[in-house]
Amino acid sequence: MNTSYIINELGEERENYFNAVAPPIIQTSNFTFKTVHELRHAFENEYSTYLYSRGKNPTVDILCKKLAALDASEDCLLFNSGAAAIFAAVLANVKAGDHIISVADPYTWAKKMFTEILPRFGVTTSFIDGRHIKNFEEARLPNTTLIYTESPNSWDFALQDLTAVASFAKQHGIITICDNSYCTPLYQQPVAMGIDLSLQSATKYISGHSDTIAGALCGSAKIIARIFNSEYNTIGSGIQPFNAWLLLRGLRTLPLRLDRISSTTKKIVAFLQQHPRVEEVIFPFDAAFSQYQLAKKQMTGACGLLTFVIKADNITSIETFCEKLQHIMMAVSWGGHESLIIPKCASVKRENFDAANRQHRMLRLYAGLEDADYIIEDLKRAFDKI
Ligand SMILES: *Cc1c(COP(=O)(O)O)cnc(C)c1O
Repeated sequence: MNTSYIINELGEERENYFNAVAPPIIQTSNFTFKTVHELRHAFENEYSTYLYSRGKNPTVDILCKKLAALDASEDCLLFNSGAAAIFAAVLANVKAGDHIISVADPYTWAKKMFTEILPRFGVTTSFIDGRHIKNFEEARLPNTTLIYTESPNSWDFALQDLTAVASFAKQHGIITICDNSYCTPLYQQPVAMGIDLSLQSATKYISGHSDTIAGALCGSAKIIARIFNSEYNTIGSGIQPFNAWLLLRGLRTLPLRLDRISSTTKKIVAFLQQHPRVEEVIFPFDAAFSQYQLAKKQMTGACGLLTFVIKADNITSIETFCEKLQHIMMAVSWGGHESLIIPKCASVKRENFDAANRQHRMLRLYAGLEDADYIIEDLKRAFDKI
C-alpha cells in the first residue's frame, strides 16, 4: 500500500465528522446501545465493536489501521507505552515451564521482565549473541516457545538476520517477536520477513515530538485478536484517545522527519569519524559497521541514533564534554525534534569507571531536526573544552 495514502487517508472517515481534515478525539469511556440484542452482540464481539475504551476506541482505531498497514501487517494494538506492548506480546505467548531465547541486551525493561518477573512464573530465558543464527539453534530447548529479537539494538546496533530467525523458528513452531523501534516500519518490516509480532516504542519516531509515551504491536489478525481478548484487556494498558491523536499528528510528518534526520546523521557520522578525540563511530549504515551488508539487506534506512567512543583517560573529560554542550540536551529517549546525548558512564558508579573499558567511553547521540551544522558546531565546541 502506498505510504502517502496510508498516512493521509487510510482509516479516516471524514464524512462521519463534518468533513474535518483532522480526526476528532473521541474522549469517551463507554458507548451506548439501543437494544439488548446489540449489547449482547458487543459483549460477544468486543474486538470488532465499540463497547468500552479500554478495548476499542474510534480515534485509536484510525491509528491502528495506519500502523498495521505501514508494518505490512493485518492488525495492530496500541499501548500506553512501548514497555506495555513488550509485556503483553511476551506474556501472551508463554506459560509455566516454557523457555524463551532473547538477544543478549534487549531494552532495559524487557530484560528485567525476562530476568526478574517471568522466572517467578516458571518461564526461563537464555540470552544469546543474536548476530549469529547458529546461536539461536544452539540455545533451542524442547520447551522453547518464543524468540525475542531487537534489531538493531539501540546502543551497539547489533542486528539479527530476521528472515533466517523467522524461518528457523517456523520449523520448530516457535513464535517470534521483533522490537523495531530503531527503524520504524518505514525502514524495516519484520512481519514481511516472517516475524510474527513487530513492536515499537511509538514514543520515539511515531510521536516525533517528545510529548507522549506509547507503544504499537503489529501482527496477523488472528494473533492480535487473541491478545486483545486476553492480555490487552486484562492488563488494561491500552492507549488513551488523546495520546493516539498526538501520534496521528506525528505520523503525518514521519517520512519527512526521517529523511531530514538521515541526511543530518550522515554529516554527523562523517564529522565524528575525522575528529581526533573519537576512537570509533558505531552506526549500522556506515560501511565499516561489522554487519553493514545485513543492514543494507534488511533495512531501507538508518538514522538519528549513533554511538561513538571518545578518547579519554578519565571520567571527568567525558562529563565535561557532555556538560559543555549548549544545544544537544542530556536526556533519555530519542526520536523527537531535539538532539540528545547520553554517556554510558552515567550508568556506571564514578569510582568504577575504567578508561580501558571501551563501553565506559561510549556516548549515544541522537540527531534531531536541527540544522546539521548547528549540531556539529555544538559537538566541536564541547570537544575543544576537554
Ligand atoms: C524506548 C524503547 C522501548 C520502550 O518504549 P517506551 O515507550 O519508553 O515504554 C522499547 N524498546 C526500545 C528499543 C526503546 O528504545
